[in-house]
Amino acid sequence: MNISLPYKMLIERDVSDKVNDFFLELGLGKRCVFVCTQNIRQTIADKIKHSMKDFDIDFIEPESTQKAYLEDIAKDVKSYDFVVGLGGGKSIDIAKYAAFLAGKEWVAFPTILSHDGVVSSRAILDDDGSWISVEAKEPIAVIADLDTIKNAPYEYIAAGAGDLISNISAVEDWRLAAKEGKEAYHTVMAKLSLLAAEAIEEHTDDIKARNDHGLEILLWSLLCAGFAMNIYGSSRPCSGSEHNISHALDRLNSGALHGEQVALGTIISVYLQKGDWKKIKDVLKKLGIPTTAKELNIGRQTIIKALVKARDVRDRYTILNKHEINEKKAEEILKKVEII
Ligand SMILES: [Zn+2]
Repeated sequence: MNISLPYKMLIERDVSDKVNDFFLELGLGKRCVFVCTQNIRQTIADKIKHSMKDFDIDFIEPESTQKAYLEDIAKDVKSYDFVVGLGGGKSIDIAKYAAFLAGKEWVAFPTILSHDGVVSSRAILDDDGSWISVEAKEPIAVIADLDTIKNAPYEYIAAGAGDLISNISAVEDWRLAAKEGKEAYHTVMAKLSLLAAEAIEEHTDDIKARNDHGLEILLWSLLCAGFAMNIYGSSRPCSGSEHNISHALDRLNSGALHGEQVALGTIISVYLQKGDWKKIKDVLKKLGIPTTAKELNIGRQTIIKALVKARDVRDRYTILNKHEINEKKAEEILKKVEII
């Protein structure tokens, strides 16, 4: 095992007057490049640049997440001391991958908390039209501005919470895989993953209200989930059959957020695992996360097809391996859990 975890975190309501000292303490050098969209540059990044008076800062506004294009970006990144990924999942993944190729440290500065991939060592990229997960590196530090996160549309916050609720079925699938002799189960990483889900269940009101405590709980739970995956060395602690369903939906161009799709998948997975799926549904409703295909604008046939295909989207042993699901069976399951 060779594991890296971020070693500094800055979590504040307004980070702008703290960032200069934070980066000085990190000691990564003075030449820095921010990876962000034009919109984030105008609304947030320029203010941050102004505050970082001891640093020489440039911007890269990437045009795509194409792997080949990012290999070019990595060549530009080489001339800087470090990289900051500022924005949503795409900017973070681009910074992560470009920094990895260029052999530079990078700092994650998420502006939305919609999934658990912030501290992950893997990046999701576009490779000639299909999404792939590639090896990259963990951030050396994380910055979270609670005011910025709070002002993002609530659906992103809900999606982040949904990605954490999915840990419940993911860990159950892991247990099953261990029971069937497919993969070893690690209690520490599994409990870390479940801890993140439990924290969300206990704080649905704070999260819904977007108060500071709720946002901190969400942030720390996403970080905890990320740590569980980084320590284990794969997404296994936080990604089971419910993620298979989401990946199958992606292939059918469903268009919903990752966290929303895995939350919907969790209802199905927990039902198949003979768990308390109604309780999961109640928690999701409390968080304002859609619990039917219709609410997510996913067609009836699309969700049925996704459930049929889910088992074979990747090689990971889950509860789906214990069921033969054809279209008729899928429809029956989805009706039972009131998703269609
Ligand atoms: Zn996920």
